Amino acid sequence: MTDTVFYAELPWPEVEARIAEGAPVFLPLGATEQHGRHMALNVDVVLPTGVAERVARKVGGLVLPAVAYGNRSQPRTGGGPGFPGTLNLAAHTFALIVRDIICELHRQKVRKIVTVNGHFENIGPTIEGIELALDAIGRDRTDGLVILRIDHWEMVQPATLDRIFPEGFPGIELEHASVLETSMMLALRPDLVDLSRATDDGPAAFLPYDRFPKPCDEVPPSGVLSMTEGSSAEKGEWLLADSEAGMIAAIEREFSRGPRT
Ligand code: ZN
Ligand code: MN
Repeated sequence: MTDTVFYAELPWPEVEARIAEGAPVFLPLGATEQHGRHMALNVDVVLPTGVAERVARKVGGLVLPAVAYGNRSQPRTGGGPGFPGTLNLAAHTFALIVRDIICELHRQKVRKIVTVNGHFENIGPTIEGIELALDAIGRDRTDGLVILRIDHWEMVQPATLDRIFPEGFPGIELEHASVLETSMMLALRPDLVDLSRATDDGPAAFLPYDRFPKPCDEVPPSGVLSMTEGSSAEKGEWLLADSEAGMIAAIEREFSRGPRT
């Protein structure tokens, strides 16, 4: 039991001791959202949780239960609300969840927090949740609290993208349920991927603006915004290695400075 990095799998004296030792605490932020016909709805939960687990093992950290619901899926980044299965939170609901968890961690004397995001639409509400937490705690009463907000895909090196996409990277916005997410899922949870169900109906040709209410007629019917062809567990491991290395570097850089006043 005691070698787990999952916060909620530990009894309270162990959690108390690891926090007292200065363990960074990771909060995976996900979504329950369609990811094509070939993958489960929980891709945006599995990926940040998997990356956080690997990093936590290296740095002596703890991984919180993920927030498994995300801010509203948008057609241009996640397929939008037109797909069966996707469950959305309003932005302010999501921001308040983030705020409350950070305030609770601060009350438990955690001073090193890393939010690890797996869902594009969570970015704005996560920033708002962090700001609301700092407002609630009091910006001059944080007692050395440092919060890092990381999108796992931002840790991927350009050289790795060049290896995966020798013809040129289609762009991160179109990567929903496509080669990057599919490859990382093949590395972490191949049981949740069935490539034989993937259909080639992309890439999406989005207009450079949003339209409300949102007809999703530019979204490929499969829900894959770009393509799945060329996905592999090996490529997934390259991507996960980049995410792990990038996060460890960020943690060493930011948490070794000591509290900044
Ligand atoms: Zn996703
Ligand atoms: Mn998503």
